[in-house]
Amino acid sequence: MTSSFPASTVLGYPRIGPDRELKRALESYWEGRSGRADLEETARRLREDTWRRLAALGLEGLPSNTFSYYDQVLDTAVLLGAVPGRYRHDDDLATYFAMARGAEGIAPLRMTKWFDTNYHYIVPEIGPDTVFSLDAAKPLAEVREARALGLETRPVLIGPVTFLLLSQAAPGNADGPDSPDSLGSSDGPDGFTPLDRLDDVVEVYARLLGELASEGVGWVQLDEPAPVADRTPAELAAVEAAYGRLGRLEHRPALLVASYFGDLGDALPVLAGTPVEAVGLDLVRGTAQGVDALAGKTVVAGVVSGRDVWRADLDRALATLHAARERAGRVTVSTSCSLLHVPYDAERETGLDPALRERLAFAEQKVAEVVELAALLTAAPGRHLPGRHLPGRPLPGHPAAPERPRTSRARMAEGRAPYAVRAVAQAEHLKLPLLPVTTIGSFPQTGELRRARAALAAGEIGEAAYESMVRAEIEQVIALQERLGLDVLVHGEPERNDMVQYFAEHLDGFAVTRHGWVQSYGSRCTRPPLLHGDVRRPEPITVRWARYAQSLTSKPVKGMLTGPVTIVAWSFVRDDLPLREVVFQVADAVREEVGDLEEAGVRVIQVDEPALRELVPLRRAEQAAYLEWAVAAYRWATSGVSEHTQIHTHLCYSDADEILAAIDALDADVTSIESARSRGRLLGAVGAFPRGLGPGVYDIHSPRVPGAVEVERLLTEALRTVPAERLWVNPDCGLKTRSYEQVEAALAHVVEAAARVRERH
Ligand code: GLN
Ligand code: ZN
Repeated sequence: MTSSFPASTVLGYPRIGPDRELKRALESYWEGRSGRADLEETARRLREDTWRRLAALGLEGLPSNTFSYYDQVLDTAVLLGAVPGRYRHDDDLATYFAMARGAEGIAPLRMTKWFDTNYHYIVPEIGPDTVFSLDAAKPLAEVREARALGLETRPVLIGPVTFLLLSQAAPGNADGPDSPDSLGSSDGPDGFTPLDRLDDVVEVYARLLGELASEGVGWVQLDEPAPVADRTPAELAAVEAAYGRLGRLEHRPALLVASYFGDLGDALPVLAGTPVEAVGLDLVRGTAQGVDALAGKTVVAGVVSGRDVWRADLDRALATLHAARERAGRVTVSTSCSLLHVPYDAERETGLDPALRERLAFAEQKVAEVVELAALLTAAPGRHLPGRHLPGRPLPGHPAAPERPRTSRARMAEGRAPYAVRAVAQAEHLKLPLLPVTTIGSFPQTGELRRARAALAAGEIGEAAYESMVRAEIEQVIALQERLGLDVLVHGEPERNDMVQYFAEHLDGFAVTRHGWVQSYGSRCTRPPLLHGDVRRPEPITVRWARYAQSLTSKPVKGMLTGPVTIVAWSFVRDDLPLREVVFQVADAVREEVGDLEEAGVRVIQVDEPALRELVPLRRAEQAAYLEWAVAAYRWATSGVSEHTQIHTHLCYSDADEILAAIDALDADVTSIESARSRGRLLGAVGAFPRGLGPGVYDIHSPRVPGAVEVERLLTEALRTVPAERLWVNPDCGLKTRSYEQVEAALAHVVEAAARVRERH
């Protein structure tokens, strides 16, 4: 006897704390400044506050087990007993954090992006011999904790199919530990894939459901977002097998299988055929297509977006709900995905233009929308809704967009001169040695500088004092690079808090929040800017810093910009224009900045595009179109300069096979790319790029300082696929997070290695 699903719910909620309480508690615990009891108390209080708040807002279906000390996928691995032996420790928290962050001499588990979000999860390791066992302590404890507050909850768990598809094959014994090349759901030894363990894992879920039922839990939510990407028949069969088996259990709570981030596609009829009681659909990104098949089940309709920060169009959401109800029968109101991906509360953003704030909905406001929609859905049909602002519209009084270069794509087609022509012009103009040494842009950000920026924001120091600090920093960074003997210098980016926020603060159409933190991974949060209106560059942004840096040296100094796709990918973006149009607006602004840099005498300009891959649609059918316009926007941003100006680009990842052709199509004169992992494969693939290439030779993610011999070996290896005339020498990424001590030593070795290799050529 299943109780009916509550009329309103959310699929999950932020957990880092409105003031990042969990971040502070975690970091204090990790640094040994506080003990386990403090951490647990902070966590307990955050859970209590969340449940009480959701209940107070009128939400009926409260989720639990959405809290995590680090990551929900890691929690699931622990729940299933899938803890690789090397991490095991007497203390369970020590085991947990060792998997997440590494321990003495043991690298952590890999981390990667959660679907197309900026959240990163820990990739579990599953092998043919992994012994699964149930550890239900966490979900049970949260159910009891909420009960003690008088609140019934619905435990949320990652479902078995998604869990296995996101896992990586444990390295076989022959491969040694931690083969870093294995990607999520890649093949392990003898063609093993984690999904081969489905039956065993489902049995653990079966036991868990039994325990939750014995605890009196009415509903459980199993998250299955994986099927919103393309899935093979075998993977769809896994969905059918898993939910067929779990659905037929006699002793279990009612099951909500929640999908999100898109349409279920072929997986919808498959799930419809299983005996689960409810299916969650993302009706913001996805459609209600095929929803008829769910008649007899409850459709948990995700009509309030968990991926943006705009108020919902309630009329439209209500129409969607009515349509789904007509076709499927039972419909209740929810968010399109967990609210983990949005900040807590827009009301706190008192520094924003009130007209903008009124258009915002963070987690709290979204819960209120869900509750309001549930009330409207159950009210008499035809009830009138008060008029509302459509989300993402330019502010009233915001000047109308000027005629955008609609012809931009046509103009783009003219492009730059062919690379052969550019290469000759640039060689003449720059007079660089063979194997030029450069860096990716940032130098270590000192605490002093960060404090000064905070003091400036708080009005404690003036603009002039801050700027003279930035100038002094640039002087030091230039002097250091000259002393070390680098060939193309950078100014070090001391004026930037962040490679996206800095530009957002200097472009019209953006706003930045004070408290709008979103968890990125573990204790790390970002505060994505709000791209709410037409983007315009009121005046040059980086030019005076670039000009100042160039005035200090005769060597070329690279101008340093963030690309249009990355600026958009790491912001919350208005939704009343196609994403492509927004990216082109940003590309216009970047193009103006590139032009001004050239005019100011900057001879090398780098436009970073590390997020190019992040916006790649989950469905293959949509990927080519995206990559085409993303590349076009980049080329539009960078093609306005003469042939002797050298354009660089930088991408952070090397396991980017699916977008290598797009990276090539960016047509940058020089591409620097991380290659700490999968170096051989990377060189095989990008070695064929017919332009300059800088595969990183210094892994900046680690405090380790590489020796000159090691760097020389990496360069020699690269020369097997990249001709010397096109090989650049650089670190993997920006140096911002390293110390000056490490950076100086490492760069000295890099320069030394380049000199030795140069001699042999
Ligand atoms: N230019 C930036 C820096 O060096 C690039 C950062 C990045 O690739 N994420 O910091
Ligand atoms: Zn990078």
